[in-house]
Amino acid sequence: MPPNARSCSSAGPTTTVVTSIADLPKHVLADLSNPGVWKIAWNIQFERTVIREQLGIDIPIAQWLDPSVLARIAGFSGALALASEVLNPEGQAKSKEGSQLIKLFSKQGKDWNDPKYAEAWRRFQHYNKQDVIAERTVYNRLQTFTPSAFERKLWELDQRINERGMPISVEYVRNAKEIVDRERQRFMAELTTLTGLGNVNSVKQLLGWLTGRGYPYSSLGKGYVAKALEGPYVVGVSEALKLRQALAKTSVSKLKAIENRARDGRVRYSYRFHGSHTGRWSGEGVQLQNLPRTSSKWGEDEVNVRACFQAPEGHKFAVADLNSIETLELAYLTKCEPLLSVFERGEDPYVDFASSWFGVPYADVTKEQRQLAKPAVLGCGYGLGGGELVASCCRKPVCACGKNKDVVKGGLWGYGESMGAPLTREQADDAVRAYRAKYWQVTDFWSKVEAAAVEAAVTGTARQHFGIVFDAIPQKFLWVVLPSGRRLHYPSPQVGANGRGTELSYARKGVYRRKLYGAKLTENLVQALSRDILAEGMLRADADGLTIVGHTHDEIICLEPADSTDALARLIAAMTAPVSWAPNLRLKAEGYEGTVYKK
Ligand SMILES: [Zn+2]
Repeated sequence: MPPNARSCSSAGPTTTVVTSIADLPKHVLADLSNPGVWKIAWNIQFERTVIREQLGIDIPIAQWLDPSVLARIAGFSGALALASEVLNPEGQAKSKEGSQLIKLFSKQGKDWNDPKYAEAWRRFQHYNKQDVIAERTVYNRLQTFTPSAFERKLWELDQRINERGMPISVEYVRNAKEIVDRERQRFMAELTTLTGLGNVNSVKQLLGWLTGRGYPYSSLGKGYVAKALEGPYVVGVSEALKLRQALAKTSVSKLKAIENRARDGRVRYSYRFHGSHTGRWSGEGVQLQNLPRTSSKWGEDEVNVRACFQAPEGHKFAVADLNSIETLELAYLTKCEPLLSVFERGEDPYVDFASSWFGVPYADVTKEQRQLAKPAVLGCGYGLGGGELVASCCRKPVCACGKNKDVVKGGLWGYGESMGAPLTREQADDAVRAYRAKYWQVTDFWSKVEAAAVEAAVTGTARQHFGIVFDAIPQKFLWVVLPSGRRLHYPSPQVGANGRGTELSYARKGVYRRKLYGAKLTENLVQALSRDILAEGMLRADADGLTIVGHTHDEIICLEPADSTDALARLIAAMTAPVSWAPNLRLKAEGYEGTVYKK
């Protein structure tokens, strides 16, 4: 890291607008090549690429600092305009006309010497100066959120992974696109003939046509279309719905995204570091964390989006994922003995819950019973209710937002359905009761952490529970110190009253108010710690010389030489080595090697 860092954040009239590389002041060029000077930029990807491509200076990642990461760690948005609004409301905020001016000069390439654009050019220069000042002001206010040495190392690894990208088979993507485009044309022609509509891609037109023929929902979302198809067969409507279903397959948008984002056989910059509030990565572009699990049928052909990702010649993937990491973390955090002992015995938590829920011995649990138990194990720890009907708009039993959309299955009942576990309404209620009775430490944890968070938010003094510290500067920040040492921040905490007692809320991304109740807090803590476990595995795998090209919440994807004999074993060892802050955690991982990415 740069010693004696002289950052651009020191106040002073240092903004200069230059219109060509030749006009760059000598001291700026010297600083860019000086490893002792921090390069600070909001989302470094743009500046790093421009400086490398235009100036031929490849500034190592270790010399960069990205204040947008600090903003996200603080619980604000990583968008400069939003962060400025919160952190710097008295002005100097990123001007909103900026994006129009960028379009005019940087995208359309209008000539700034043309008198027609003289005024716009003057404003563009002003905007650029303001932008630097806004970045500087926001950065100065964010310095308390500077990442730890561990997080700094992780961010540098993240940047390298993003720059490497996931390799694709250009040929497979091309063929898949051809198949999908061909079939889509056919489906659209059929749908046009059937409905007589001018544009069958218009949701409004198609919805109007369907509603006039008895379609019961106000949305063409996948779930609604599927549900309507379960209903009584109506001539014309069912055919139209089936065609709509085929046209709206996830693979269509994914293939388009892959094609748009791929450069020389790689999809890059798919991960945003600390993109979610818990510290997890969020997806960009192709959304690699959210690929369809199965292939889809297009006429006579099958298309599998995952199979677009293939190792280039002479290489193979080594892929491993951590077993039931969230359930293990939940058990660890809440000190839930019955759940912890499942992992100690090396058993399956879904089978264990099914065994007590259905009252059969562990060994006699059927595949179907395990399938029914799975959504309960995954959802009930975060406060999921049983078999309730809710409004699709706000997920409340009685619409609270005023949109009054369709009534749908909520709670465990709806969650099970979305996971392919067809629970009845009564079964859902029953599973929630059984879960809360068997793992009572979990529900106990909800109320204790909520009380600790509320107390900290009100008094501004630290409270500790289960090795987790809750602390706050009232009105400004509530934060949680995780067992891993990392802090989760909740901006602008407020404690109000509702019918049942106190109600804690915070400003999500610094803007929208969100309720923070015990079960929600538990979900945040579990996901944050699961991320920290994966992060340790990533750094260990990297240090061991493995080449990470991708990851999801519990999975790491490496690209290794085809003749490597120990890549998978090394990856699994890196992911399951004792965690520094919880050495007794029983981590388990499994995986595969191959030239095609799969699940
Ligand atoms: Zn509503």
